[in-house]
Amino acid sequence: MGRMTATPATNRPKRVLLAAPRGYCAGVDRAVIAVEKALEQYGAPVYVRHEIVHNKYVVQTLERKGAIFVDQATEVPPGNIVMFSAHGVAPTVHEEARQGRLATIDATCPLVTKVHKEAIRYAKEDFDILLIGHEGHEEVIGTSGEAPDHIQLVDGPEDVAKVEVRDPSRVVWLSQTTLSVDETMETVDALKDKFPQLISPPSDDICYATQNRQTAIKELAGQAELVIVVGSKNSSNSIRMVEVAKQAGVPAAYLVDFASEIDEAWLEGVTSVGLSSGASVPDVLVQEVLEWLAQRGYADVEIVKTADEHLTFSLPKELRRDLRAEAAELVKE
Ligand code: SF4
Repeated sequence: MGRMTATPATNRPKRVLLAAPRGYCAGVDRAVIAVEKALEQYGAPVYVRHEIVHNKYVVQTLERKGAIFVDQATEVPPGNIVMFSAHGVAPTVHEEARQGRLATIDATCPLVTKVHKEAIRYAKEDFDILLIGHEGHEEVIGTSGEAPDHIQLVDGPEDVAKVEVRDPSRVVWLSQTTLSVDETMETVDALKDKFPQLISPPSDDICYATQNRQTAIKELAGQAELVIVVGSKNSSNSIRMVEVAKQAGVPAAYLVDFASEIDEAWLEGVTSVGLSSGASVPDVLVQEVLEWLAQRGYADVEIVKTADEHLTFSLPKELRRDLRAEAAELVKE
């Protein structure tokens, strides 16, 4: 057998390892199409409470088409249409919209709604619910609002010491959909040490898209010297992808909204760049990064595929109604 000579890293062709799956998940796709359809059907303006999905480009594009983003439903003038974002809302927000005489479209991702239903069910059975998630995140605020008297937030293993429950034999954990799978299990283990009878949710709360994107990024991280994740700074699942890449041992990993945010210095000594995008990111932004990299010698693109995704959700049913007429009726009442 001939002697194999390793090619020095500097002589190896530069390449991009492109994650699959990446980008839009079924819940984001549905929410963005829902805003577009609402604008088409009812005309501008359509108000949207909070960013429909956590992505700067998506929000700016929809604004140009006539969507108006607000912090609270109470800011919307009576007789208008307001849409709730993919992250879900507490029942009090539906009530505010009713009080404000607004017609509503609920674009909450069905996988977030599933967690809301779990929370309602366990609260009815009088369980203490330990919701693992990030303090202040919209999804966590919405889920907690379903059963504020029964839910307490656990923001990582360091929070476990302060958790108190009424009856340690009636405790369940639930979670935000966009967490790091590994970190969440660390928190669950710490909770189980404290409450050995802790019940787990009937099915995974961390959604398929979050899990698949983390698996793909781990695969990239093992083969690249740099990982770039396209996503916004307030996108939970995108931030987690950068963290997962670093934990998987890649020397450097960064989150960028646009190709223009990439620093050329990051490429120094890098042969393989891993590239992926968060669940709220349209692929056009990834294509721009690919072009940017190609211009700098990273023209070879290898797809690293770790899963197939086929899930789609039907659009919110409210879009089948004449909401402008309903909103006009509401102000007459
Ligand atoms: S990340 Fe998961 S939970 Fe969030 S919108 Fe997408 S599919 Fe739904």
